[in-house]
Amino acid sequence: MTDIALNESLGYAYAQARERLHNALADAGRAQDAAELLAVSKTKPAAMIRQAWQLGQRQFGENYLQEALEKQAELADLDDIVWHFIGPLQSNKTRAVAEHFDWMHSVDRLKIAKRLSEQRPTHLAPLNICLQVNISREESKAGVLPEELEELAREVAMLPNLYLRGLMAIPAPAKSLDAQRQPLAALREAFIALQKSLPDAPLDTLSMGMSDDLEAAVLEGATLVRLGTAIFGARQSA
Ligand SMILES: *Cc1c(COP(=O)(O)O)cnc(C)c1O
Repeated sequence: MTDIALNESLGYAYAQARERLHNALADAGRAQDAAELLAVSKTKPAAMIRQAWQLGQRQFGENYLQEALEKQAELADLDDIVWHFIGPLQSNKTRAVAEHFDWMHSVDRLKIAKRLSEQRPTHLAPLNICLQVNISREESKAGVLPEELEELAREVAMLPNLYLRGLMAIPAPAKSLDAQRQPLAALREAFIALQKSLPDAPLDTLSMGMSDDLEAAVLEGATLVRLGTAIFGARQSA
């Protein structure tokens, strides 16, 4: 594709994604600033991220560390860009996340959180953390189980170089709006319970909703929706 064609198709998809979020918030009776868009750019080139940035997008989510670091280096001139790491992370890879990201959404065990806190450079603001919850209780899926969430959250909240901002989940896929809403409602309830049991933690973020379940997530109180396909188009399967 030429640059102009890329610009036009991304511009159109981005406008549509914004419109979808706008409509979902209106239908849910929520304020237009009650949820923000996180553009999930995994597998997509840095040039597309730059174009989305030119359209006004500032928050980007990446899943694969090496790929993300390469794109960050290419985009180092965009100094107000906000980088979220949203993929699985091995504990021996925490340092790069601590040094190069603003947010980390997939913390599901204390060992990872401790390393991120220890490795966060002191000249940077604390790393914003979402705990990933295995809300659909899928075997061998990432995420802390709901009954283990409070204990993990309590310990993460005490780590000095992290801000515990909220919860993230990737529910099992479901077709109907009602079926999609069930696990998302459970995540919202877990979030509200955590806000009550940890009143001093800066818990303000419910990271849920993807291209297929954005509307359900906004109805259930999402504050940060993570859209990949809807903005950047289909990805090659890995
Ligand atoms: C890939 C990914 C997304 C975006 O998914 P789409 O269906 O393309 O919108 C959101 N969140 C996480 C954690 C992802 O890995």
